[in-house]
Amino acid sequence: LSRAQVEVLQHADVAALLPVPAAESDKYRRGVVGIAAGSARYPGAALLAVAGALRGGAGAVRYVGTAAEEVVRRYPETLVTEGGPAGAGRVQAWVVGPGSGEGAERALTEALAGGVPVLVDADGLTELARLGPDALRERTAPTVLTPHTGEAARLLAGADGGAPPAADDLAARRLDTARRLAAAYRATVLLKGSTTVVAEPTGEVRVNPTGTSWLATAGSGDVLAGLTGSFLAAGLAPLDAASAAAYLHGLAGRAAAHGEVPIAALDIARALRAAWRTVRE
Ligand code: AMP
Ligand code: MG
Repeated sequence: LSRAQVEVLQHADVAALLPVPAAESDKYRRGVVGIAAGSARYPGAALLAVAGALRGGAGAVRYVGTAAEEVVRRYPETLVTEGGPAGAGRVQAWVVGPGSGEGAERALTEALAGGVPVLVDADGLTELARLGPDALRERTAPTVLTPHTGEAARLLAGADGGAPPAADDLAARRLDTARRLAAAYRATVLLKGSTTVVAEPTGEVRVNPTGTSWLATAGSGDVLAGLTGSFLAAGLAPLDAASAAAYLHGLAGRAAAHGEVPIAALDIARALRAAWRTVRE
């Protein structure tokens, strides 16, 4: 493990990364993020991913999936496309997988076949683990994977054909795990957990210092996926998008849990604007 390549994220680094619209900007230049998430069983994951994406400063959020009615009722600013990602125009980055259930296979295949950055999370990662790293071989645009340690274990098993390693072992060797995954899938890997780390296939790693264990709540990761997707759509490099999102997500969790009080995932999304303000102050 080479220490020189491990960086701890700092306020000033993140402030410089946050996408702020230029004077002549329009919604397309700010970035259109596509969210392929949610299913009849998990419609809420779609809402949380959309909520995260809307708070990341994307110019527009486009939703594909079976929870369109719920999404538009709650977030009327969302654009909706029927069918899969292949039929959705002008999307500059895709988020695939939160609560996708059986829809994950089609959404993943179609999103990966396009030429824009793709973030794969949750059920999308289960599908990717089944396909193995070969599914990403033809890609030229960036791919970002956002596993927790259980999902990381499945991905590693999918990469070398062995039995999944124990999630606790992976959690104890977070830098190594993130790097192994990034190298195996040739993707940027944001490994979630008590200390979130982001790794590149080159071995470069960033460690996020802002987390809090209050973030360990259902739907928390869905908000992070949407937020990261909006940064990718805005044109941030994958390592920057993933690490800035982890930083803000952690700050938002802390702000929402201020006074050590429990939070739910939507509270994290709602606190993102305050987190953004804190970073820019
Ligand atoms: P998910 O499991 O996909 O809902 O994502 C959970 C989110 O909560 C991720 O952002 C994790 O990094 C975060 N998280 C989970 N457990 C902890 C913990 N013990 N300390 C800090 N953050 C955590
Ligand atoms: Mg998750």
